[in-house]
Formats: sequence, C-alpha cells, structure tokens
Amino acid sequence: MPFCFHKCHYCDFYSIVDTQDRQTAFVDRLRNELQAMAHLAARPLDTIFVGGGTPTLLREDLWKVLLDDLQQLFGAAQMPANGGEFTVECNPETATDSLMRTLASGGVNRISIGAQSFHARHLATLERWHDPSNVERAIERARRAGITRASVDLIFAIPGQTLEEWREDLRHALRLGTDHISCYALTYEPNTAMTARLSRGEFARADEDLEADMFAATCELLASHGLVRYEVSNFARAGEECRHNLAYWRQEDWLAAGPSASGHLRGHRWKNSPRLDDYLQPTPDGTARVVDHEPPDPRRELLDWLMTGLRLREGIPLEGLETRAARVDPLAQARIMGVLRGAQSRGFAEPSGGAWRLTEAGLAVADAVIADIFAAVD
Ligand code: SF4
Repeated sequence: MPFCFHKCHYCDFYSIVDTQDRQTAFVDRLRNELQAMAHLAARPLDTIFVGGGTPTLLREDLWKVLLDDLQQLFGAAQMPANGGEFTVECNPETATDSLMRTLASGGVNRISIGAQSFHARHLATLERWHDPSNVERAIERARRAGITRASVDLIFAIPGQTLEEWREDLRHALRLGTDHISCYALTYEPNTAMTARLSRGEFARADEDLEADMFAATCELLASHGLVRYEVSNFARAGEECRHNLAYWRQEDWLAAGPSASGHLRGHRWKNSPRLDDYLQPTPDGTARVVDHEPPDPRRELLDWLMTGLRLREGIPLEGLETRAARVDPLAQARIMGVLRGAQSRGFAEPSGGAWRLTEAGLAVADAVIADIFAAVD
C-alpha cells in the first residue's frame, strides 16, 4: 500500500503522499495483479502481510473490495480458523472501530502498529505525526473487533533521547499487553530528510555507547517480561513470533503484490517497479512490471539463507546447510563450519539441537560473523 499522510523524515520505504486520490486506480490494479498470481499460491495460505506505506489510510470501501477478492482468490477470511496469520500494518490515527471490524471480517487477526516512541518530542524529531495515546486506542479497537494479536514497532537512538526515556517507551509498550515488539535503532539512510538534517548539523546522532546501552536495556527489560529475542530486532512471547517474517528469514516462498513489493518463489527473486505510475500501467497478463529479476542461483540462495537465518535465535538447521552448501561446491559446508567453530571458540556461536546459532554475544556482532562466512564461501 503505497500511500502515506506525509513522509516521515527517516523513511526510505517506497511511499507517496497522494494528492490526486489514486486509491481507486491502485486497488483496481492490485486486484488485477492478485488475480494473475492466484494460481501460484498454496492453499490454505499460511500468512498474509499487508504493509506500506500506510495500509489503514486506504478507504474502507476499497478495503472491502480488496478483502472480498482475497477471500475469493485465497480464502483469506478463513485464515484465522485455519490457524493462519493475516497481519495489517496500522497507523494509530486511522484505526477506527469500523475499519477494524471490516479487517477482522476479512480474516485479519494481527495488526502491526508503528508507535516508534511514546514521547511526542521524539516523534516530532522523526517528523512522525500521531498522538502517542492513539496507539493504545488503536490496539483496543482492534481487540474489540476480534483482532487479538498486536505488534508494536519502536525506534531508539533518536537524537536527544535518554536511556530512561527509552526504558519508558519499552515499559509503555509492555503495559499495552502486546506479545510482540520490534525495536530498531534509528538509521540514517541515504536520500532521507533525516540524513540531510544530520549533515546540516541540525542535531547530533546518538552516541554509540548510549545506543549500545539502550539495546542492552531492551534485551534485559523485555526478557524479564517474557518476550524472547527471536531475531536481532524482534522480541515475542513463545508462539507469538511473526510467522510471515519468519518465512522471509527462513527463505521460504512468498508472493508479492503492489509497487516495490519483492517476491521469492522456487529460487527466483523479483521486485515490482517501485513507482506507482509504472505500477498502474496495465500489462497483457495482469502481472506487475518487474525491475529486478534474479533467476535461481545456488550461491546467492545459500548466502541469503545464512544471512537471515543466523540473525534468528533458532539459527540454521544443519540439514538445510548440507543441502544448500552442496549445491554450491563440495567443500562449502566444511568452510562454513570452520568459521562457525571459530566463532564458537570466541563465544559467538553454538550448536543447538540439529542447528547452529549465534549466541547473545554473537548476535551483537552478527554482521562480522556473517562477513567471515561470506568470505569463506567465496
Ligand atoms: S508511515 Fe511508514 S512508510 Fe509512511 S512515511 Fe512514515 S515510516 Fe515511511
């Protein structure tokens, strides 16, 4: 869903502030695309994730049309009864009772809500405009409608944010009774307003030590409330992990629809054109224009799988390593195991059941361990 109220200053996702009301045209095109790909989907679907942009900015009448299609094409409304997970990213300002009921009747059983901070001052620094108290209201509305699972996104290391303020944000999120919290350090992506303001000297970025203290406080506080760090930046109670994101990180198959959406199926990777104008152009078979298509490549698939799998607390299953490494070269597995054993001797990796995973200390230096593995594969 490419539409947003306005552009948050840190954001490098594809989204536009739509001044021409192209929502109807967008949904027409999206329905077309979904129809074209429906035959590729397994039934019943395990998960659907509607992200953005700001999906809850879409008009409710258009949501109804879209949910009807998702039901007809994929049986979405039955997903909760079939144990599926259907998540919609939700902006606190647009989560009305009526929209939440519409989403629930279409099968949505989880919302992911972009709180970012519960301090208005820090939201202002991010140019993120919502009333922090509306986060709680949105979660209550979702629950009243029968959407029982909620995840809260938070950002730390915001310029001017203290360690205690960050702890308050975490406690606030916990008080909402959510079973899933994602915590991201503020990053300064190229071509964002935040990065331009930083280079103009409008503020100083958070000190590295403070950022490390904030992350340590995150792990400690959330663990003491039963939320386990199951991925580098994601914390959940057992059984409340985001199954859709787990599918990405385990490099399973997923379809993608909408501008800038990326799919992965049987080793193929592709990305839809990131411009709404391009996306709206019809194509003979209804599929979207693709800007990047990578055909199956055993080396790339192995590296992607290692990169995302080692960021998961569950790690990488040895069986999967054996199969994937053998497709690259007969000695690849031995070289990777050499790096993992080296990391083990430094306390960064450990065998666990039939898998290898990074330890807590290892997750803190995951990029370095993964870079060593990449070098070994090459
Ligand atoms: S609401 Fe989300 S997608 Fe939209 S501009 Fe803000 S961060 Fe980006």
